Amino acid sequence: MTLADAAEELVRLGAGFHGRAWMLGTSGNLSVVLSRDPLRLAITGSSIDKGRMNVEQILEVDGDGKMLRGSGKPSAETLLHLEVVRSTGAGAVLHTHSVWTTVLSDYHHARGGFHIEGYEMLKGLEGIQTHEHREWLPVVENSQDMAALAVEARTLLKKHPEIHGLLVRRHGMYTWGKDIAAAARHVEILEFLLEAIGRRQMMEPQLSPE
Ligand SMILES: [Zn+2]
Repeated sequence: MTLADAAEELVRLGAGFHGRAWMLGTSGNLSVVLSRDPLRLAITGSSIDKGRMNVEQILEVDGDGKMLRGSGKPSAETLLHLEVVRSTGAGAVLHTHSVWTTVLSDYHHARGGFHIEGYEMLKGLEGIQTHEHREWLPVVENSQDMAALAVEARTLLKKHPEIHGLLVRRHGMYTWGKDIAAAARHVEILEFLLEAIGRRQMMEPQLSPE
């Protein structure tokens, strides 16, 4: 994929996610793998309003997060995107800051995460054939130290290679997929499930998932 093609796709995704209130203001960031050897990512620049992005605001970075093409500054969370790509083999990594990821990451942080189980929408996750699937969604503590957060993500993904996403406490969600389409589908599916779980839990707090 060329940087120009990736930039067009990421601008379109950003506007869509902003419209769903999953990336309000300058929150969140989106990346896609341009090449694996050497590793190159197209990623949204730092402090860019996701509702008004343009293709010039998508940058190319190397495997250390150093900018190779574009203007501005790569997102501070580039290191975490690179770690997820290396650990999972993903072709795209998408990071959202929705209300429900913020609320549920806070609520379930003490248990290290929670299971999502029995929902038809789980079948939208890559490789899941039945609603009877039990999906683990881990929560890590938030930090401004991206290198430390990246190491934590690596450890987590080694322990749970089957997961489709992870939450950062009171912050948001990272999800990924083999390509942009799969990763975008995972955002839609997980955001739907989190909102459904959050709203259900408000009706009967004792139903909170484990
Ligand atoms: Zn973030």
